[in-house]
Amino acid sequence: MVTENYREVEKRVCEACARSGRAREEVTLIAVSKYKPVEMIRELMAIGVRDFGENHAQELVSKTEEITEPLNWHFIGNLQRNKVKYVVGRACLIHSVSSLALAKEIQKEAAKKNVTVPVLVEVNIADEETKQGISEEEVYTLVREISELPNLVIRGLMAIAPPVESPEENRPYFRKLKQMQKEIAFFGLPRTEMTELSMGMTGDFEVAIEEGATMVRVGTAIFGAR
Ligand SMILES: *Cc1c(COP(=O)(O)O)cnc(C)c1O
Repeated sequence: MVTENYREVEKRVCEACARSGRAREEVTLIAVSKYKPVEMIRELMAIGVRDFGENHAQELVSKTEEITEPLNWHFIGNLQRNKVKYVVGRACLIHSVSSLALAKEIQKEAAKKNVTVPVLVEVNIADEETKQGISEEEVYTLVREISELPNLVIRGLMAIAPPVESPEENRPYFRKLKQMQKEIAFFGLPRTEMTELSMGMTGDFEVAIEEGATMVRVGTAIFGAR
């Protein structure tokens, strides 16, 4: 079931790439496996899937202890400072950095482990009160500040678009994030590459791809409802 679902999503990713004149390789499909059992992850590993998304530090720890094969574990959840030590060294990319305090904690842990940590800065793109992520106005300052931390590299931006009836409603938000990515890239900050745009989930990943997503985070369409 999970395998079939994944193939169906993969097909839709391909079609969205084709529609927007992009190469399939430009987009990483991240299978968001949060709350889902390791057996399901193994099913996908069997067909060659390597990118998985988790949003709880504890769950990331237990899953990486059970699955020792090298995979790309993406940390996409709200990260508390006291959980940073569990994520640094385990996640290939932390998608959800939205404060300097958190970035500094990651820096501390990265220095201790002598590693470089790739991160995305999470933007509260629709300015929703309930959402994590930094506001559009504050993001430029935050990126500058993070670029001064020697053990972090900024790979781009991430956003969670609001739940909507039609995915088209989120197109302006995706477009705005793409615009911000371009502006920040223009600054030419140290340790800042701005090549990645993590946006699009089950309800809107095709529109996100059309607007320039390089990573889509799909849970429900692959693993079923949580
Ligand atoms: C759960 C989650 C997803 C996946 O959501 P679906 O709608 O199930 O595809 C994507 N991004 C983040 C940050 C999440 O927490």
